Amino acid sequence: MLTVLSQHTSDTNRDRAYADLRRRFDTWDDVADAPLPALARAIRRGGLGPTKSGVPLDERAFTNVPDRDLWNTLLALPGVGPKTAACVLLFSLDRPYFPVDTHVHRVAIRLGLVPPRSGAVATQAAFQETVPDDEMYALHMNLIRHGREVCAAQRPRCSECVLRDLCPRIGVTTSR
Ligand code: SF4
Repeated sequence: MLTVLSQHTSDTNRDRAYADLRRRFDTWDDVADAPLPALARAIRRGGLGPTKSGVPLDERAFTNVPDRDLWNTLLALPGVGPKTAACVLLFSLDRPYFPVDTHVHRVAIRLGLVPPRSGAVATQAAFQETVPDDEMYALHMNLIRHGREVCAAQRPRCSECVLRDLCPRIGVTTSR
Protein backbone atom coordinates (compact mmCIF):
# COMPACT_ATOMS: atom_id res chain seq x y z
CA MET A 1 0.00 0.00 0.00
CA LEU A 2 2.93 2.28 0.64
CA THR A 3 3.85 1.76 -2.99
CA VAL A 4 0.35 2.72 -4.04
CA LEU A 5 0.44 5.85 -1.91
CA SER A 6 3.86 6.89 -3.20
CA GLN A 7 2.60 7.56 -6.71
CA HIS A 8 2.53 11.23 -7.67
CA THR A 9 3.25 12.62 -4.21
CA SER A 10 6.21 13.43 -2.03
CA ASP A 11 7.82 11.02 0.43
CA THR A 12 6.54 13.13 3.31
CA ASN A 13 2.98 13.11 2.07
CA ARG A 14 3.20 9.42 1.27
CA ASP A 15 4.35 8.65 4.81
CA ARG A 16 1.59 10.80 6.27
CA ALA A 17 -1.05 9.09 4.18
CA TYR A 18 0.24 5.65 5.09
CA ALA A 19 0.36 6.48 8.81
CA ASP A 20 -3.17 7.91 8.65
CA LEU A 21 -4.41 4.82 6.84
CA ARG A 22 -2.90 2.49 9.44
CA ARG A 23 -4.35 4.58 12.27
CA ARG A 24 -7.81 4.65 10.74
CA PHE A 25 -8.07 0.93 9.83
CA ASP A 26 -6.98 -2.05 11.93
CA THR A 27 -6.42 -4.52 9.08
CA TRP A 28 -6.00 -4.54 5.32
CA ASP A 29 -9.35 -6.31 5.10
CA ASP A 30 -10.86 -3.26 6.80
CA VAL A 31 -9.21 -1.10 4.15
CA ALA A 32 -10.61 -3.30 1.41
CA ASP A 33 -14.11 -3.21 2.90
CA ALA A 34 -14.09 0.54 3.55
CA PRO A 35 -16.28 2.81 1.41
CA LEU A 36 -14.27 4.93 -0.99
CA PRO A 37 -15.13 8.23 0.77
CA ALA A 38 -13.73 6.86 4.05
CA LEU A 39 -10.54 5.82 2.29
CA ALA A 40 -10.28 9.20 0.61
CA ARG A 41 -10.64 10.96 3.96
CA ALA A 42 -8.01 8.71 5.52
CA ILE A 43 -5.35 9.52 2.92
CA ARG A 44 -6.21 13.17 2.35
CA ARG A 45 -3.08 14.45 4.10
CA GLY A 46 -1.03 12.60 1.51
CA GLY A 47 -2.61 14.63 -1.24
CA LEU A 48 -4.51 11.57 -2.39
CA GLY A 49 -8.04 12.46 -1.46
CA PRO A 50 -10.80 13.06 -3.96
CA THR A 51 -10.19 15.72 -6.55
CA LYS A 52 -12.68 18.37 -7.59
CA SER A 53 -13.90 16.01 -10.26
CA GLY A 54 -14.71 13.41 -7.66
CA VAL A 55 -12.26 10.97 -9.24
CA PRO A 56 -9.75 9.69 -6.68
CA LEU A 57 -6.27 10.85 -7.62
CA ASP A 58 -4.69 7.48 -6.91
CA GLU A 59 -7.01 5.83 -9.45
CA ARG A 60 -5.73 8.12 -12.18
CA ALA A 61 -2.13 7.64 -11.11
CA PHE A 62 -2.33 3.97 -12.09
CA THR A 63 -4.06 4.30 -15.41
CA ASN A 64 -1.14 2.90 -17.37
CA VAL A 65 -0.07 0.22 -14.91
CA PRO A 66 -1.05 -3.26 -16.13
CA ASP A 67 -3.56 -5.19 -14.03
CA ARG A 68 -1.13 -8.00 -13.34
CA ASP A 69 1.57 -5.62 -12.07
CA LEU A 70 -0.88 -4.04 -9.64
CA TRP A 71 -2.03 -7.47 -8.53
CA ASN A 72 1.52 -8.66 -7.87
CA THR A 73 2.40 -5.44 -6.04
CA LEU A 74 -0.60 -5.72 -3.75
CA LEU A 75 -0.03 -9.40 -3.03
CA ALA A 76 3.58 -8.68 -2.08
CA LEU A 77 2.43 -6.41 0.74
CA PRO A 78 2.33 -7.89 4.26
CA GLY A 79 -1.13 -9.06 5.24
CA VAL A 80 -2.64 -8.68 1.79
CA GLY A 81 -4.21 -11.80 0.35
CA PRO A 82 -6.12 -12.45 -2.86
CA LYS A 83 -9.46 -11.19 -1.52
CA THR A 84 -8.05 -7.89 -0.32
CA ALA A 85 -5.99 -7.38 -3.46
CA ALA A 86 -9.01 -8.07 -5.65
CA CYS A 87 -11.17 -5.70 -3.58
CA VAL A 88 -8.67 -2.88 -3.98
CA LEU A 89 -8.38 -3.51 -7.70
CA LEU A 90 -12.11 -3.86 -8.34
CA PHE A 91 -13.49 -1.15 -6.09
CA SER A 92 -10.70 1.42 -5.95
CA LEU A 93 -9.07 1.05 -9.35
CA ASP A 94 -11.93 -0.32 -11.46
CA ARG A 95 -9.91 -3.30 -12.65
CA PRO A 96 -11.47 -6.64 -13.62
CA TYR A 97 -10.83 -8.67 -10.49
CA PHE A 98 -13.30 -10.87 -8.63
CA PRO A 99 -13.03 -10.89 -4.81
CA VAL A 100 -14.46 -13.93 -3.06
CA ASP A 101 -15.59 -13.31 0.49
CA THR A 102 -17.43 -15.67 2.80
CA HIS A 103 -20.83 -14.98 1.16
CA VAL A 104 -19.66 -15.44 -2.40
CA HIS A 105 -17.78 -18.57 -1.37
CA ARG A 106 -20.78 -20.13 0.37
CA VAL A 107 -23.23 -19.34 -2.43
CA ALA A 108 -20.83 -20.59 -5.11
CA ILE A 109 -20.50 -23.95 -3.36
CA ARG A 110 -24.20 -24.31 -2.67
CA LEU A 111 -25.07 -23.55 -6.27
CA GLY A 112 -22.46 -26.01 -7.49
CA LEU A 113 -20.49 -23.32 -9.30
CA VAL A 114 -17.30 -24.77 -7.82
CA PRO A 115 -16.57 -28.21 -6.33
CA PRO A 116 -17.92 -28.69 -2.77
CA ARG A 117 -14.55 -28.63 -1.05
CA SER A 118 -13.12 -25.67 -2.92
CA GLY A 119 -11.37 -23.18 -0.70
CA ALA A 120 -12.00 -19.45 -1.04
CA VAL A 121 -8.75 -18.89 -2.92
CA ALA A 122 -9.53 -21.63 -5.44
CA THR A 123 -13.05 -20.30 -5.81
CA GLN A 124 -11.72 -16.82 -6.47
CA ALA A 125 -9.33 -18.20 -9.09
CA ALA A 126 -12.23 -20.02 -10.78
CA PHE A 127 -14.35 -16.87 -10.95
CA GLN A 128 -11.40 -14.83 -12.09
CA GLU A 129 -10.84 -17.25 -14.92
CA THR A 130 -14.44 -17.62 -16.09
CA VAL A 131 -16.42 -14.44 -15.39
CA PRO A 132 -16.30 -11.85 -18.19
CA ASP A 133 -14.51 -8.69 -17.13
CA ASP A 134 -17.52 -6.44 -17.53
CA GLU A 135 -19.69 -8.69 -15.36
CA MET A 136 -17.38 -9.07 -12.39
CA TYR A 137 -18.58 -6.11 -10.38
CA ALA A 138 -22.28 -6.86 -10.80
CA LEU A 139 -21.92 -10.58 -10.16
CA HIS A 140 -19.78 -10.02 -7.11
CA MET A 141 -22.25 -7.54 -5.64
CA ASN A 142 -25.27 -9.71 -6.45
CA LEU A 143 -23.74 -12.85 -4.93
CA ILE A 144 -22.90 -10.98 -1.75
CA ARG A 145 -26.43 -9.62 -1.52
CA HIS A 146 -27.88 -13.04 -2.22
CA GLY A 147 -25.68 -14.58 0.47
CA ARG A 148 -26.62 -11.97 3.03
CA GLU A 149 -30.33 -11.71 2.33
CA VAL A 150 -31.39 -15.14 1.07
CA CYS A 151 -28.72 -17.82 1.06
CA ALA A 152 -27.69 -17.16 4.65
CA ALA A 153 -25.06 -19.31 6.32
CA GLN A 154 -27.28 -20.89 8.97
CA ARG A 155 -30.81 -20.71 7.59
CA PRO A 156 -30.97 -20.23 3.83
CA ARG A 157 -34.41 -19.11 2.72
CA CYS A 158 -34.67 -21.66 -0.08
CA SER A 159 -38.45 -21.42 -0.38
CA GLU A 160 -38.08 -17.75 -1.41
CA CYS A 161 -34.97 -18.16 -3.52
CA VAL A 162 -35.18 -17.19 -7.18
CA LEU A 163 -32.39 -19.68 -7.91
CA ARG A 164 -34.06 -22.68 -6.31
CA ASP A 165 -34.81 -24.36 -9.63
CA LEU A 166 -31.11 -24.25 -10.45
CA CYS A 167 -29.79 -25.14 -7.02
CA PRO A 168 -28.52 -28.65 -6.39
CA ARG A 169 -29.06 -28.17 -2.67
CA ILE A 170 -32.84 -28.24 -2.80
CA GLY A 171 -33.86 -31.08 -0.55
CA VAL A 172 -30.43 -31.19 1.09
CA THR A 173 -30.31 -30.21 4.75
CA THR A 174 -26.62 -29.64 5.39
CA SER A 175 -25.52 -26.08 6.12
CA ARG A 176 -22.96 -25.79 3.33
S1 SF4 B 1 -32.03 -22.58 -3.10
FE1 SF4 B 1 -31.30 -22.28 -0.99
S2 SF4 B 1 -29.20 -23.08 -0.91
FE2 SF4 B 1 -29.77 -22.80 -3.10
S3 SF4 B 1 -29.00 -20.75 -3.59
FE3 SF4 B 1 -31.13 -20.52 -2.99
S4 SF4 B 1 -31.08 -20.06 -0.79
FE4 SF4 B 1 -29.07 -20.89 -1.36
